[in-house]
Amino acid sequence: MNYSEFFKFLRKWRDARRNPPASAWPREITLDSKAWEGIQRLYNLTRMDGHEYETSFFFAEGETFLTTPLRGSRQQVTSSHSMSIKYEIDQRKRVYYRNIILDGRVVSKSAIKPAQMAQGGQLGFLFNVHTHPEHKNSEDKTTYSFFSDTDIRSLLAANATVSGLVTDSFWLVCKTDAAISKVGEVGEELLYAISEKAFGGEQYLDDLIKENMSRWGLVFYRGAFRKPLVRVN
Ligand SMILES: [Zn+2]
Repeated sequence: MNYSEFFKFLRKWRDARRNPPASAWPREITLDSKAWEGIQRLYNLTRMDGHEYETSFFFAEGETFLTTPLRGSRQQVTSSHSMSIKYEIDQRKRVYYRNIILDGRVVSKSAIKPAQMAQGGQLGFLFNVHTHPEHKNSEDKTTYSFFSDTDIRSLLAANATVSGLVTDSFWLVCKTDAAISKVGEVGEELLYAISEKAFGGEQYLDDLIKENMSRWGLVFYRGAFRKPLVRVN
């Protein structure tokens, strides 16, 4: 599934006010180069100061737009963002301009043909992404933790269907129509155990996700930077 299909897929289910069943989630998802630039930038920020960073991805007219990265926040930021399209006409030059506005700031301005004005409608929130800093394990290998209980809790409580995590690869966690409503104590321990596995060297990480996360009604994707995201479970 390419990026614009993925956006349409998310929007279709959001409009239906339901989460897709596990069977509807594609085997692979491809992001565009602008999304990867944003992911790389977030990764670099975390490499520099060891803090978590967070940003929201929006999609408009076939392109990705990102909100300014937030440093060290654990709050959900998705609800506080807004995106809109505003058209301008330069009467003198007889040119139409399309302004894409994210959080009150013009992030893109392009000249368009009048016919393109009618198309519109292709914009909205995609998902929120945050980073986890690296961790050195006992063998001095660089490893990363998995989604934390706070991460999964925020996703379950939010309107969003998907949430992203940047380590040295990119993860997506997606809700299905069978997603659990909350993470209990047992769930908290399980997520902690998965992170411990990841710190150790993640040999059995995929198995652990396959075994447990389908029961939670969550679907995970993982991809190396600039490669397709592949469904894990
Ligand atoms: Zn996290």
